[in-house]
Amino acid sequence: MENKSKKSHKYIFVIGGVMSGVGKGIATSSIGAILQSKGFAVNLLKVDPYLNVDAGTMNPVEHGEVFVLDSGLETDQDMGNYERFLNRSLTGDDYITSGMVYKHVIEAERALKYGGKCVEAIPHIRDEIIHRFQKSGRVNESDITVVEIGGTVGDYQNIMFIEAARVMKVMHPNDVAFVMVSYMPVPSKLGEMKSKPTQNAIRQLYSYGVNPDVIIARSEVPMDQKRREKIAVSCSLPVEQVISAPDIESVFDVPLNFEKDNMGKMLMKLLHLRKKQNETGIHAWVNFANKVKNTKDTVDIAIVGKYFNTGDFVLTDAYVSVLEAIKYSSYAQGKKAVIHTINSRDYEGKHKSHADFKALEKFDGIIVPGGFGESGIEGKLSVIEYVRENKIPYFGLCYGMQLMVIEYARNVLGLKDANTAEINPNSKNLVIDIMPDQKKKLEMCDYGGSMRLGAYDANLVKGTVAHSAYSKDIIQERHRHRYEVNTEYIEQLTDAGLVFSGKSPSGVLMEIAELPKKVHPFFLGTQFHPEFLARPLAPHPLFTEFIKEAIKRKEK
Ligand code: GLN
Repeated sequence: MENKSKKSHKYIFVIGGVMSGVGKGIATSSIGAILQSKGFAVNLLKVDPYLNVDAGTMNPVEHGEVFVLDSGLETDQDMGNYERFLNRSLTGDDYITSGMVYKHVIEAERALKYGGKCVEAIPHIRDEIIHRFQKSGRVNESDITVVEIGGTVGDYQNIMFIEAARVMKVMHPNDVAFVMVSYMPVPSKLGEMKSKPTQNAIRQLYSYGVNPDVIIARSEVPMDQKRREKIAVSCSLPVEQVISAPDIESVFDVPLNFEKDNMGKMLMKLLHLRKKQNETGIHAWVNFANKVKNTKDTVDIAIVGKYFNTGDFVLTDAYVSVLEAIKYSSYAQGKKAVIHTINSRDYEGKHKSHADFKALEKFDGIIVPGGFGESGIEGKLSVIEYVRENKIPYFGLCYGMQLMVIEYARNVLGLKDANTAEINPNSKNLVIDIMPDQKKKLEMCDYGGSMRLGAYDANLVKGTVAHSAYSKDIIQERHRHRYEVNTEYIEQLTDAGLVFSGKSPSGVLMEIAELPKKVHPFFLGTQFHPEFLARPLAPHPLFTEFIKEAIKRKEK
């Protein structure tokens, strides 16, 4: 077992109790933001205990958005929260799945790396996990690594990760702390908060040899002193180490709420950390959280997507970074974004003839986000045609840019069968085509982590909307796609008025398409996903430009 990590590196493990979905990710992000504000270099690491090697092959309706890092790793949406709360990019070492760990160990076994030993979960899988925890701290050059272990205590899937954390505590008792985020239900028939499920979860954690140092009790309402004491006694903790985390309106209040209970100081004490000179405080957060609370004027933005419905529910998890990006740019302009969801299927096929296109007029801006496959595409294309002709601000993200190019080719160039090879490879006019290396990958059924992924440079053309929004010549943005604007059509499209304002350094890949301001207030699409780099304290320049135009429309 590797035991040579920097002695002073600190680890906080965040573990869930009772049930998932109570805000472990936001708790982890908030702990990160608090420690960062105290002057520590922090990295946040997410453990997803599933056997998928990464999140890239999972359906966004079931699993939420796939969040892409600079490195190109396709991860869980929690990574997006981490980056947004830390206001910085994380590395490919900050995300671990069971699949990743097992794949590595099994491949090492096949390569005779274990010298003839019997390879087993303990010690080999456990030690590979410890190695990865330690590596993430080193790669980030951080002081503290906060690890969120996915799932809840009692799951089979995450046992090995909790065991790795336990062993790290044994190795470095002063450098490791455990935080349990648990749930305290208030059953409506009883009308009182029940602590028993949390007590049981704590007992289960004990049975793994782990004692929580801090309990964050999530609930609909604040926890009273009586229950705080009950939990404290049942897990042998000082009462201050039990934190009440009631539902609040905005997640940006969570770090502030934690700080009211002295979370930062408490964790520093538990980890034997001294106060830093370069403490910044959380003023920036306070300001932002106040803006969220006090902004009243609205701007109405619609997202045209297909991943909204599961059963009776409308879910927006598939587009969470897009929603966040819209909100941040709106707050920066003094507006609260009211986000509407439009199901693209309502604008196509038999629905199209009685679809209410006029209803689109009430929106100040319309976004077509990323996506895959055929369903809902014709509906998106008819919406794009309408917003182009009626000068409603339009922002296309990845697929949304490709569709904008197809719409332009069909309705302005008159190439009626213009299409993407993703939908109809037999179309005569494939204005969007598969990238040659991608074609080979698909033929070999190589689907996992094989798209054009992660951060790439693009050069911006002076005098364009994009250049003036970014105010720079070279940008870096994150990608996730297999298809591209077909270079054979660039001349025709350009002659017809479409401007390619961002291109890859080789000049071959079209990264941004737009119409000039004098033709349309904002009609712009990006082959990349700008939403992945939008942060509360650093809104994304293209979203901001789009929102500015949306506000102008509203105020007209
Ligand atoms: N399906 C398109 C492609 O693969 C767009 C992908 C996306 O929107 N992320 O190129």
